[in-house]
Amino acid sequence: MLIGQEITVLGAGIGGLAVATALAQRGAHVRVLDQADAIREVGAGLQISPNGAVVLNALGLGDALTAAAPRARAVVLRDFRRGDEVFRLALDRADRPYHLTHRADLIEILRKGAVDAGVVVELGRKVETVTPGDRGATLTFQGGSSETVPLLIGADGLHSPCRAALNPATRPFFTGQVAWRCTIPLDAPVALAEATVHMGPGRHIVTYPLRGGDLMNVVAVEERDGWAAEGWNHRDDPAALRAAFADFAPEIRDLLFRADKVYLWGLFRHPLAKHWSQGRVVLLGDAAHPTLPFLAQGANMALEDAWVLADALDQEDAIDLAFNRYASQRRSRTARIVDAASRNAENYHLRPGPYRATVHLALKLGGKLAPHVAANRFEWLYGHDVTATP
Ligand SMILES: Cc1cc2nc3c(=O)[nH]c(=O)nc-3n(C[C@H](O)[C@H](O)[C@H](O)COP(=O)(O)OP(=O)(O)OC[C@H]3O[C@@H](n4cnc5c(N)ncnc54)[C@H](O)[C@@H]3O)c2cc1C
Repeated sequence: MLIGQEITVLGAGIGGLAVATALAQRGAHVRVLDQADAIREVGAGLQISPNGAVVLNALGLGDALTAAAPRARAVVLRDFRRGDEVFRLALDRADRPYHLTHRADLIEILRKGAVDAGVVVELGRKVETVTPGDRGATLTFQGGSSETVPLLIGADGLHSPCRAALNPATRPFFTGQVAWRCTIPLDAPVALAEATVHMGPGRHIVTYPLRGGDLMNVVAVEERDGWAAEGWNHRDDPAALRAAFADFAPEIRDLLFRADKVYLWGLFRHPLAKHWSQGRVVLLGDAAHPTLPFLAQGANMALEDAWVLADALDQEDAIDLAFNRYASQRRSRTARIVDAASRNAENYHLRPGPYRATVHLALKLGGKLAPHVAANRFEWLYGHDVTATP
């Protein structure tokens, strides 16, 4: 079904490069268009959980991932003030690789995989509007030129023109939370590949080492009334980040003391797209189901989507059947993940008092007495393998 098909992917991000590779490996002629003038990524970390890693593996990129990104041993939840361990989720199952990667490294792995599979990447192509039609989709580019393509995959992220074309305008709302991100070079490399969450009242901070432990990735979230812009590239004063976490454990204060280049953005909730496809246009990744970052699943969902969509297009003779098959396999899973991510912030941000003490005690005891029960709670998420033959 895919051999010789002309497919255009809008967006050379994680989902776009992955779906392009999966389609090209099955015989399609794939072009990826992106607004950027070079494929580069912001300096930030990304957790690739087993459900995303299986897709990279199936695309033949597993070895490159393992070489670039150490496997995480655990996610550890800690109390904010003293840093005491509250809960530990072991991630060291041999058959369930969980990686802590640098975004730039992952994008380079995916770009190379796509080019090796024969995908053509065209940069500097910012699309302003998308018009779905019965026999293709018309793209209008910045500068006024336009082009009609036979089949378009909208992997164009949070502010997707493809999503806008398929769905009536919906306004995201500010969640009352902002997040800082930064990477901090370390003098002495950290040996422990663990992701740590220090949980405080109305705030939490996630830290994990990247690139052999030379760099610490930081994402710090604070509840606040004021609005902050949505977007990754707004610089902020590191002093504001230090002030917000001044009552956190010494290891966090010491780390933040070294932060010199920090970015701040407002966290917004976007509704899931109601329509995932129309005519010969289909959405994938953040364009279909934007998520808050509190479960570290946005990129993993985009990877899962990529595999399922390529498979559906390969299996079904008719495009509409393929799109329906894809959406029916993805809609409820992505909705569940997005919902779980939204609830996580509440769990992290409990105020001191009896309720918080009880929740933390239950987590501590549960983790110690029945660690397998805790691990099983995440089986639906990490144990899902979209590449397994049904
Ligand atoms: C702080 C933070 C931490 C995160 N941590 C994790 C994590 O640990 N694990 C995880 O799984 N996810 C994480 N995520 C989420 C993850 O980064 C996203 O969900 C993921 O990148 C989505 O992939 P995508 O391919 O849908 O979109 P993107 O990767 O955003 O790619 C979209 C592409 O489309 C291009 N584009 C957009 N508009 C146009 C246009 N008009 N014309 C042409 N090109 C266009 C863009 O240039 C971009 O290259 C995190 C997110 C944040 C904010």
